[in-house]
Amino acid sequence: MAEEKLLLLKNIRQQGYGGDYASYKKTGGGAAFKKALTGMTPAEVIETVKESGLRGRGGAGFPCGVKWSFMPKDLPGPDQKPHYLVCNADEAEPGTLKDHVLMLGDPHMFIEGMMIGCYAMRSTHGYIYIRGESPHAIRRVQAAIDELYKAKLLGKNILGSGVQLDLTVHPGAGAYICGEETAMLDSLEGKRGLPRSKPPFPAQSGFNACPTTVNNVETLANIPFILTEGPKAFAAFGSENNTGTQAVSISGHVEKPGVYEMDMGHNLKSILEDFAGGVRGGKKLKALIPGGASAPVMRADEIDVPYDFDSLMKAGTMRGSAAIMVFDEDTDMVEVANRTIRFFNHESCGQCTPCREGTFWIKNMIRQFGDDAGDEALLSLVHRAAGNIIGTTICAFGDAVGGALQGFVQKFPEDFRNHFQS
Ligand code: SF4
Repeated sequence: MAEEKLLLLKNIRQQGYGGDYASYKKTGGGAAFKKALTGMTPAEVIETVKESGLRGRGGAGFPCGVKWSFMPKDLPGPDQKPHYLVCNADEAEPGTLKDHVLMLGDPHMFIEGMMIGCYAMRSTHGYIYIRGESPHAIRRVQAAIDELYKAKLLGKNILGSGVQLDLTVHPGAGAYICGEETAMLDSLEGKRGLPRSKPPFPAQSGFNACPTTVNNVETLANIPFILTEGPKAFAAFGSENNTGTQAVSISGHVEKPGVYEMDMGHNLKSILEDFAGGVRGGKKLKALIPGGASAPVMRADEIDVPYDFDSLMKAGTMRGSAAIMVFDEDTDMVEVANRTIRFFNHESCGQCTPCREGTFWIKNMIRQFGDDAGDEALLSLVHRAAGNIIGTTICAFGDAVGGALQGFVQKFPEDFRNHFQS
């Protein structure tokens, strides 16, 4: 029976842990920021994070230290543009709840990571963008920031170092696409959140056209451990190219849905069986979506693989937001595809014709199967239309939707056929 490896959830799992700054400090919290500020240069902090191999936990898995190193190295002067670190706390991918657990249960851990990131990238102002539908998370994180101002760990001349840092919580208005980093920056600027064409990348021109890095909550929550225990201690978890632990949300037809922490690369089948207690009611597994709604679905016979960025990519899907959704043998995958496409069509920002029109027409086609009105030609058209979205859009949303929809048709054609052959 596998056990949790606890770096991110270690405080939360403690009986009676309050999540306030006093409780966090008792567990050694705050030491990493102090170490960075009083004993390390910004360049040394970035090197340490690079050495740890930490990859961003928001979806793409880009190495965090490398991302930080893209920011300008100079200290912004009066005639230069300020640098920004924005924390993506907009967690909105269906099935995903791990960042919420971190924000609600132990907000100081990721905030400390953010403070270290701001110091490393010479940013004097950071923003935490939280989805507006999560007022409890907004209140919790704001309360934690208020505590830090009170303790004089935010504001001017922190710990007598001359360093200044302010953090602001910014509630989003509920658009899924604002989880895409450039749409988030538009939204933060007060505009309608629309993904931007890249280049320029945010490190050159991000928030208010200034150098900006966007990191997700879980990514930042790893930073204090890396600084206090060292990059090697972090890299001892997981595997060579997929270091550290990971917080994974698991939901659907399982005995024990929840958020669990384990090594990167832990076997996916074991996550389902050992952590989530297996399929609910002793039923057989039919399908599993491994990384939130935009990750291509897997069949039951495909899940004996390591759960990490590279292994899932090799298996033809993706780790995405680390949200595993489980479907038992009684599930009609046409209904799952139907719900998925309705969500994506609603959330498409509409800028790109293949995404805006493609999701609309595919939604109508899949609905026909639900009404038992499809046929073989329509099934092949759904597959082709989904493929036509891939590689033709401004942001990765189009690729993700196209890949997810093709996955339903490729892996479960019999479910679609059951609707027109019955
Ligand atoms: Fe908007 Fe879709 Fe284009 Fe992304 S792919 S920019 S969500 S229309």
